[in-house]
Amino acid sequence: MDTLLITNSTIINCDERQERCDIFIENGKIIEMGQSLKKEATRTIDCQQQSLFLLPGFIDSHIHGANGFDVMDSTQQALEGIANHLVKEGVTSFLATTMTQSNENIEASLVNVKNYVDHFEGAELLGVHVEGPFLSVKRAGAQPVEFMQPPSISLLERWHELSGGFIKIMTIAPELEDGLAFVKQLSNLNIIASMGHTDATMDEVQTAVEAGVTQATHLFNQMRPFHHREPGVVGAALQEDDVFVELIVDFIHSHPKAVNLVYKVKGAKQIILITDAMRAKGLPYGEYDLGGQTVHVEEDGARLEDGALAGSVLTMEQAVKNMKAVTNCSLEEIVAMTSTNVARQLQATTKGRIAVGYDADFVLIDSNLTVHKTIRHAQVVYEKS
Ligand SMILES: [Zn+2]
Repeated sequence: MDTLLITNSTIINCDERQERCDIFIENGKIIEMGQSLKKEATRTIDCQQQSLFLLPGFIDSHIHGANGFDVMDSTQQALEGIANHLVKEGVTSFLATTMTQSNENIEASLVNVKNYVDHFEGAELLGVHVEGPFLSVKRAGAQPVEFMQPPSISLLERWHELSGGFIKIMTIAPELEDGLAFVKQLSNLNIIASMGHTDATMDEVQTAVEAGVTQATHLFNQMRPFHHREPGVVGAALQEDDVFVELIVDFIHSHPKAVNLVYKVKGAKQIILITDAMRAKGLPYGEYDLGGQTVHVEEDGARLEDGALAGSVLTMEQAVKNMKAVTNCSLEEIVAMTSTNVARQLQATTKGRIAVGYDADFVLIDSNLTVHKTIRHAQVVYEKS
C-alpha cells in the first residue's frame, strides 16, 4: 500500500491554520493529522526546512486550454496536455470548459471527456463546464454568434447523457426564451446554473436566482454592466447572497480596483478565481486559434481581430498573486477563493480542504505565493526547479 507522511507543515484551510502539523496519507486519502504523528510511511516529505505553506490544491473550474491544447480539440491528448500543464501552477483539479460551437463539435468534446477515465497523471479532470451555446448574442464576446441558440431542454438532456453525467457547470443567459425552465432543469440534474454572456436586467436576474442560478460567469465580462438606474447582472450578482462570482484576475479583464470592489462587497467566501485560459497559456506570444477564430496573444491579452478579449493566458498562481496585491487578502481567503468555494459549489465533498477523509491534493507555496510543489492524490506531480 502506498503511504505518505508529510511532516512539520503549516496547513492553511479557509477558516484556520495549523502549525507544525503532520499528515498521514494512505492511497491518496488523508487518514490522520496531528503534531508528531508516530507513523511509518513508504514516503516522507518534510516541510520544516523550507517554511512553505500547505494549501488545498487549486481548482480551476473555467479553463479552455493550455500549452497548445484546447478542450474543443476533442482528443485524449488535448485533455492530457492540459492536465499535465496545470500542475505547474498549483492546480490539482479542473473542469474542461467547452465553448459555443456546432452541436456536433460540442457533443464530440463531451464524449471525449466521458472517455477520459482512469487518468492519474497531472491535474484531475472533475467534469465539464459547458459555456454556450445558450447565450445572448448581445453579449457574445469571443463566443461565435452563428452557433448561439435558444435554451433547449432536450439538448441539455442529450448532452448530460453523452457526457456520462459529467457536466458540472453550464453558463447560460437566463433571460432567453425558456431560460427559466432551463435553469430549473439544470438544478434538477445537479448542474450549476451560472449566468454569463447575458443581457439580463436586475429584475430578470432576481427571477433567475429564484429559479436556481447560483453563480455568475466571469463577473463584469460579457454581461449587462452596472448602471445606477438599472443595476444589471453585475449589480444583481454583487448583491445576491447566494450567488458565487467567478473572477479572472489578470488585470486585463477587470481593473484592479473593480476586483477590490468585488472583494469588499462579496467577500472571499463568494469569489471563485478562474483563469478562463485558452491554448496559448504557457506558450510564446503569437497567433492562435479559439473555436475557429484567430486570436492574437500579446502583452495586453488574448484578443480577436476586432480587439474583443478571447480568454486569457493567466495562471492560477498569477491570479492568486494579483488578488493578494490588490486586496491584501489572507492565505485563508486565498484557499476559499481557489479551492473551498468551488469545491462546495461542485459538491466535491473530498476536495477544498485539508482534513481527515479528504483527498491528498495540495499545493506548497512560499510567502511570495510562488508554487514550489504540487501534490495530487499523494503524488508529487510538480516540483519547482
Ligand atoms: Zn470561457
